[in-house]
Amino acid sequence: KPLIAMEGVCKSYASAGWDLDVFDEAALSIQHGERCAIVGPSGAGKSTLLHLLGLLDTPDKGRLLFNGCDISTTTSDQRAQLRNQCLGFIFQNFHLLPRLTALENVALPLFYRGLSRAAAHQRAYEQLERVGLDERMLHRPASLSGGQCQRVAIARALVGAPALILADEPTGNLDSATTEDVLHLLLQLNREEGVTLVVVTHDTGLAQRLDRCFHVQNGKVTEKPHHWDMAHG
Ligand code: ADP
Repeated sequence: KPLIAMEGVCKSYASAGWDLDVFDEAALSIQHGERCAIVGPSGAGKSTLLHLLGLLDTPDKGRLLFNGCDISTTTSDQRAQLRNQCLGFIFQNFHLLPRLTALENVALPLFYRGLSRAAAHQRAYEQLERVGLDERMLHRPASLSGGQCQRVAIARALVGAPALILADEPTGNLDSATTEDVLHLLLQLNREEGVTLVVVTHDTGLAQRLDRCFHVQNGKVTEKPHHWDMAHG
C-alpha cells in the first residue's frame, strides 16, 4: 500500500470574507522509499500541501490516507503521535533552538517520546556521527555554518527513525556547494534507510535529481515528467 494517498482533497482558507480555494479535488499517491519533489509558483499551495502531508492540517473534503490510516478520522492527539513517530521535518531556516547545543537539538524529539536524557543523548550522538558533525556536538547553532546547521536539522529529523521526511526548501539558504552536500546526504539516507523524501523546492536541478516531481498549480497536483521544462519551455 502507498505511504500516502490523497484523493479528492479540497482545502480552502477563509480570507477577508471570502474563501480562497487552494486545493480543489487534488490527488496524489506516494510509495514507501520514493524521492519526490514538489514544485510550483509562489502562492500555489506548496506549503499547504506540506502541512497536509505532515499531518499538521486536515483536508476540508476528500481523503488523506497515511500508511493506510484515514487521517480525517483521527484526533489531533493521534496526529501529533503519528507526526512524532513517523515524520521528520526540515526547514529552509533550520528551526534549531539557539540556546541548545547541536546534541541537545537532535535529542529533543526523543525527550517527547519519553526517552531518558542519557539514552536520547546517545542516539543523538549517533545521528550527528552519521551526518559528520559529531565533533561539533557541543556547539550552538550560532557557531555553526548554514550547511552544518542543516545537517544538525537532518540529524534531528532522522533521530526518531521516521518513515517520511518532509523538507521545505531545505537548500534555500545554502550556497551551491553546500546544497550539493545536503542533497547528497538526503539521497544517501534514502538509499540506506529507505526513508521516503518529499522536498518542496524552487531548484529545478534539485527536483530533477529526485524520482518524481509533483507540480502544484490551479488547485491540483499533477505529476510532471522529468525534462518537462526543456520539452515544453
Ligand atoms: P506556496 O507554499 O506555494 O507559496 P501556500 O500554501 O503558502 O503557497 O499558500 C497558498 C495560498 O493560500 C496563498 O494564496 C496563501 O496566501 C494562502 N494561505 C496560506 N495559508 C493561509 C492561511 N493560514 N490563511 C489564509 N490564507 C492562507
